[in-house]
Amino acid sequence: MADNRPVIEMQSVNKWYGPNFQVLKDCSLTVKRGEVVVICGPSGSGKSTLIKCVNGLEPVDNGSITVTGTDVTDRKTRLPALRAKVGMVFQHFELFPHMTITENLCIGQEKVLGRSPAEAKAKAAALLERVGLSAHAGKYPGQLSGGQQQRVAIARALAMDPQAMLFDEPTSALDPEMINEVLDVMVALAQEGMTMMVVTHEMGFARKVADRIVFMDQGEIVEIGDRGTFFDNPKTERARSFLSKIL
Ligand code: ADP
Ligand code: MG
Repeated sequence: MADNRPVIEMQSVNKWYGPNFQVLKDCSLTVKRGEVVVICGPSGSGKSTLIKCVNGLEPVDNGSITVTGTDVTDRKTRLPALRAKVGMVFQHFELFPHMTITENLCIGQEKVLGRSPAEAKAKAAALLERVGLSAHAGKYPGQLSGGQQQRVAIARALAMDPQAMLFDEPTSALDPEMINEVLDVMVALAQEGMTMMVVTHEMGFARKVADRIVFMDQGEIVEIGDRGTFFDNPKTERARSFLSKIL
């Protein structure tokens, strides 16, 4: 699926929180079109910060990040347009609680992309069908289960026709019986060729669809491997030790 054009390109990214704590240390990573990159590593290693930098939710101190050629770190870059291009799904779904599911899927399409209400609604309906939630279109987020809300969050990001999708532990706040319904949607997306960066501890997902696994520790990208090499033959002691705790 992957061709050679990079969708996301990070070069020597450094970031500090305050004067004394460097959260990202010289991180470089290129994600090609159609590639699925899984990011893992211990809690506090900088995974969330790294992917938030990709869509401009966190500024970097130096280094460069481009998304399909747009410089994320350029202050002139319009962040709403960038965030339409790179959809993001968080651990806690962050749907708009006072809007129906359909309205959640339409607002960005209308406000950011300038689609007509009819066009936005048609797109919303098609996406809700795809994630198996057509029957819930008129409900409010609070009336849905966690797994259903997370599928809505994925559909909402997809409604913007993104070039890439970022996921930050999308299943870790869910009850176990709901994890698979969300992973199934993500697997289908990966198999359809979506470019994805996914922070997750779901190593079954990683083994199934990841083209590459990135292992982070203490703000560094310590190791990048393909799924076979990384799981069966990690290069570093740090990765070995992490895997022994989670597998
Ligand atoms: P991960 O997602 O791998 O758990 P994070 O990127 O959330 O890691 O956090 C990396 C480190 O940065 C942690 O030590 C965390 O406490 C710290 N951190 C995260 N966000 C902030 C912030 N806004 N201000 C200061 N420190 C932060
Ligand atoms: Mg995190």
